[in-house]
Amino acid sequence: MAEWAGNGENNGKRTVLSVRDLTMHFPVKHGLFGQVSGHVYAVDGVSFSIREGETLGVVGESGCGKTTLGKTVLRLLAPTAGQIVLRGQDITRRSDRQMREQRRQMQMVFQDPYSSLNPRMPCGQIVAEPLEIYDLVSGREKDELVTSLFERVGLSADQKARYPHQLSGGQRQRLGIARALALNPSLIVADEPVSALDVSVQAQVINLLKDLQREFNLAYLFISHDLAVVEHISHRIAVMYLGKVVEIADKRALFSSPLHPYSEALLSAVPVPDPGAKRDQIILRGDVPSPINPPPGCAFHTRCPYVKDICRTEVPALQEVTEGHFAACHLRTSAAPD
Ligand code: SF4
Repeated sequence: MAEWAGNGENNGKRTVLSVRDLTMHFPVKHGLFGQVSGHVYAVDGVSFSIREGETLGVVGESGCGKTTLGKTVLRLLAPTAGQIVLRGQDITRRSDRQMREQRRQMQMVFQDPYSSLNPRMPCGQIVAEPLEIYDLVSGREKDELVTSLFERVGLSADQKARYPHQLSGGQRQRLGIARALALNPSLIVADEPVSALDVSVQAQVINLLKDLQREFNLAYLFISHDLAVVEHISHRIAVMYLGKVVEIADKRALFSSPLHPYSEALLSAVPVPDPGAKRDQIILRGDVPSPINPPPGCAFHTRCPYVKDICRTEVPALQEVTEGHFAACHLRTSAAPD
């Protein structure tokens, strides 16, 4: 567990991001005077770390808090509690002015590249803009840097003069990646970056992200609802349910032997690329409960096929079950009676 919050080295790879007990609760207001009547428990005590050159995939159904987690890590939202350490510096409570330097190190790639790009700006200017804001380069040097970024992400130099609507969906996502790379970041938070793209284009963009990671030693927090996509790009995977991480492990360990019943159900729905192979799909009963009023005990107990009495009252802690493989389930601890 120490490595999660630490800033140490592992195989020579330094920790880029450490998140400890990160919590993001949104107040629910009502009435004329906006009285607070409750909270949305969007992110609830999440801990993990990501090293250089590593991708941590975050999966879960929509509404599980994974997008809020990404925004909170980037400090686009002010966390309710917890700690965010970026390259050894605690950025949890920094003001916007103090965050200016750290923002260079953390960039985001969005789900919908079209709505995240200024439609009135030529594509070259979109990539040049962050360089101008930080006053890093100017004149010919800036033009050359923008051209090299275009080429690196698979766009041609003559596309610098075009506008976002003149590009295809895949090209727009490449443009978004070029913009994210312009400031030479350490960490990229990619929130469903390929879910709006055709399957063939998805593979190209994923492969591009993997190549760039190798080249620039980037750390990725890769958020997706699609386990097949997450498996392709991630080194480790965190499974989220109702604002909490319920399992986190190396991707091979997670796919071969999931420890949490929710992960088991998600994995059973991933198509197997073998027409002869059979997999029994686990159908979960009911919907995800409201994050305003999560169930007591294990939040998954209303849908879990293995629920026991203890699950209805006691919150299972995220514990290391085998080396590097953590799960939050009473079935995996000695606390659960038969
Ligand atoms: Fe199911 Fe209980 Fe484990 Fe929750 S703690 S996942 S309800 S067995």
